[in-house]
Amino acid sequence: TDIAIKTALLSVSDKTGLVELGQALAAHDIKLISTGGTAKLLRDAGLAVTDISDFTGFPEMMDGRVKTLHPKVHGGLLAVRNNPEHVAAMKAHDISAIDLVVVNLYPFRETVAKGAGRQEVIENIDIGGPSMVRSAAKNHDHVTIVTDPKDYPSLISELADNGGATTLDSRRRFAAKAYAATAQYDAAISAWFAADLKEDLPELLTVPLKKASALRYGENPHQKAALYIPTLPNLPEWPIVNGIAQAEQIQGKALSYNNYGDADAALDLISEFCDAAPTVVILKHANPCGVASGDSLIEAYKAALACDSVSAFGGIIAVNRPLDGATAEAITSIFTEVVVAPAADEAAKAIFAKKKNLRLLITGALPDPKRNGLNLRSIAGGILLQSRDGSLLDEQALQVVTEVKPSEQQMKDALFAWTVAKHVKSNAIVYARDNATVGIGAGQMNRLESARIAAWKAEDAAKRAGWPESRTRGSAVASDAFFPFADGLVTATEAGATTVIQPGGSIRDQEVIDAANKAGIAMIFTGTRHFRH
Ligand code: 5GP
Repeated sequence: TDIAIKTALLSVSDKTGLVELGQALAAHDIKLISTGGTAKLLRDAGLAVTDISDFTGFPEMMDGRVKTLHPKVHGGLLAVRNNPEHVAAMKAHDISAIDLVVVNLYPFRETVAKGAGRQEVIENIDIGGPSMVRSAAKNHDHVTIVTDPKDYPSLISELADNGGATTLDSRRRFAAKAYAATAQYDAAISAWFAADLKEDLPELLTVPLKKASALRYGENPHQKAALYIPTLPNLPEWPIVNGIAQAEQIQGKALSYNNYGDADAALDLISEFCDAAPTVVILKHANPCGVASGDSLIEAYKAALACDSVSAFGGIIAVNRPLDGATAEAITSIFTEVVVAPAADEAAKAIFAKKKNLRLLITGALPDPKRNGLNLRSIAGGILLQSRDGSLLDEQALQVVTEVKPSEQQMKDALFAWTVAKHVKSNAIVYARDNATVGIGAGQMNRLESARIAAWKAEDAAKRAGWPESRTRGSAVASDAFFPFADGLVTATEAGATTVIQPGGSIRDQEVIDAANKAGIAMIFTGTRHFRH
């Protein structure tokens, strides 16, 4: 099954390592055939090369659109060497065998990435290259196909160790890689079309992905995991933003699967505060356990921590300003897993450096909270996709439905609570006061329970801190979806909330409005629901 290589066809756009490879092939007396630019480079290096047009007896034409698309090339690649009919056909049509193909394709992704116009992008769709790759890879019983310059050294050493021949095993591996390369290439092209046509969720979704890092394990140690990122930038539905996948890790252990998920959730929430005062998010298991804005990051951090200092242990922190030394010092006073920041000054970095395990991620500017994007979730036998919840509160759509109208401060607290509730797992109830959350109820199977838990946690925090009363007194409370019954609202008013913000839209809205009026509190309907499961 070893095949000695006598003829090689080289046609590459990325000319990295080409000359060294050409020299190694020539040293085995392998005949080299090449297309225009590739042939020139090899010849300039003093190697003997046959031009593809001499090999096919046909000129390269139409701006290079037709170079290698010829039966002499594809016959030479596809012929089964031990099939008498194939051999007869080769003889009849003067086709000679090609044993090795080295091809990499027109730089389509790079052309899209640099923002080229439609015509230039189209011209960079390689046709002959993928055709050769596919022909050679199909016939890997006889032909070797190499598509990645990183594989040249291993090919060179295989030829050296194996008397100028390749093994079936390595040809199969190269063929598998070759089909992955053409599949990725076509995926990039179809994704570009979808973007160009502004198709939201196309009939056939192809997103070319590459493994960015292997993770030690998944959610649990017995699960496998890896991070994949798109290879084509600027897909409208999957834009590469200053996200966690792109963040620079300054220090700490490698991020785990759970770290990625939590850090992403924290960044998603903090990005809602991109234009706000200094703000800090403390998050655990994808749910915030404290969010606050203040005059400085350190003030915001202290206020966020006060919401639930117990849960903050081992938390993920995100901030909306460059991190300073004082805030870093405060953060490191309790065990923290990950810190996400747009930037960090030298003092902050020096303080974190003392905590070897703490992961510090620098994202640059915060991502746009309104951006497009896709959420992906797998179900048995399929994948669910939805466009990202990038809808921000529309102040025009707000409707005060009670006799009591909210004061300016109450409205501010309500909007703060609402913004956080959008990022809390349903059923979500968030109490906020003075630009800080004071009680968060997450992930319960009924809204009443979430309201109770949030109020109970706020009371617990007050006891620990020695405050005279729970800070839900005089707070605003947000609910991610409507109250189906008045009981959830009654719990919130009993906890002392004086303002309620919720989507509205229940058939029992009137019952809930009556309860609010009876309690003498203000209630705002947003008209938008923010489930998060
Ligand atoms: P060169 O720099 O050698 O002139 O061109 C190399 C590139 O041309 C490679 O990326 C290869 O995939 C591509 N190529 C080879 N044959 C054809 C063909 O017949 N049509 C097109 N469009 N591209 C080709």
